[in-house]
Amino acid sequence: MATVSHQTDVWPDARGRFGEFGGRYVPETLMHPVEQLERAYEAARHDVKFREELHHLLKDFAGRPTPLFHARRLTEHLGGAQIFLKREDLLHTGAHKINNCLGQGLLALRMGKARLVAETGAGQHGVATATVAALLGMECVVYMGEEDMARQAPNVYRMRLLGSRVEPVASGSRTLKDAINEAMRDWVTNVHNTHYLLGSVLGPHPYPLMVREFHRVIGQEARRQILEAAGRLPDYLFACVGGGSNSIGLFYDFIPDASVKMVGVEAGGRGANLGEHAARFAGGKPGVLQGTYTYVLQTEDGLIANTHSISAGLDYPAIGPEHAALYRQGRVEYTHVSDAEALEAARLLSRTEGIIPALEPAHALAAVIARGPKMSRENIVVVNLSGRGDKDLGIFQSAGVL
Ligand SMILES: *Cc1c(COP(=O)(O)O)cnc(C)c1O
Repeated sequence: MATVSHQTDVWPDARGRFGEFGGRYVPETLMHPVEQLERAYEAARHDVKFREELHHLLKDFAGRPTPLFHARRLTEHLGGAQIFLKREDLLHTGAHKINNCLGQGLLALRMGKARLVAETGAGQHGVATATVAALLGMECVVYMGEEDMARQAPNVYRMRLLGSRVEPVASGSRTLKDAINEAMRDWVTNVHNTHYLLGSVLGPHPYPLMVREFHRVIGQEARRQILEAAGRLPDYLFACVGGGSNSIGLFYDFIPDASVKMVGVEAGGRGANLGEHAARFAGGKPGVLQGTYTYVLQTEDGLIANTHSISAGLDYPAIGPEHAALYRQGRVEYTHVSDAEALEAARLLSRTEGIIPALEPAHALAAVIARGPKMSRENIVVVNLSGRGDKDLGIFQSAGVL
């Protein structure tokens, strides 16, 4: 098999750079915590005992390996490529996020830290973190914008039921990016006993590296499974891209395989104007946000733009720096679909396969629905079904999806 020249062996470099992107843009007060974290992570990732313990929890607590399911009725309906679904929706707590939370939770314990802080937008990362805190017997505080708390009341209750404290954030737009600022502030103040459990491949080095490594298991399993099911590598991988963790988790181990095309799907929202979507590569430009240099949706004057997506998990103005590099390199293609297309994709998967997807992976499915019919029946497509749709039932219902 031909291989392209790629950077998987050297990305990120010692300064946390993926090509020109990434790095560590933090105030002096955060330098010590991130350097301490980097050292601890480097030691843990090469420690057999740490890896075995994580493997055990991923298997017996979270439910790995997740199946790779041949979606025969959807394939037939579309009339083109063979579609396979990587079933991350079947994991405990209903999404891929638990992979990263278990990894960082164990790392925090190893560092002797008994307290976790996390940010959350819709509450999915908060619930996964609260779950791991309960499992490992740790204290947990989740920062959440007041606006989001009102919109996501069931998840606020879940976190509390799991024993975590949910701290309302009243500053700024009272949403995710304000919650991240507060979580970082808490971390700096309480670093002696606290780990900041960041939820995607964002933030200062080593987070984009570390979170990617905890999600690589998705692609490692998928590779083994498709070779077993089809006897060869897939032609296409599709995944939705919010911060970019489920997508890089699926893509990473296929990057050296030139024959495997990869498509990252962003939120096109309700229109192309700034403020109406979260398609960073379509409407953003390079800049620094929350510790990393990457593509950011911003105004002419460099102010962070408002974003919109029907899917809370994709509604963020920046994207993981490794995706920025893969975009620049042309190794991964990035596209976007609208709110309406994602809703229609969720309806179609529900009807054809008996699987109600979350709105985030419904974006990836919408891109497959658009392109699958134009592909040959011999083509193989793997879609990352990053989460289940239970959390989105209210949105489906009020949008009139039936
Ligand atoms: C949070 C979330 C996402 C978006 O986050 P990434 O880091 O881009 O993966 C996607 N799907 C689901 C189900 C989520 O909960």
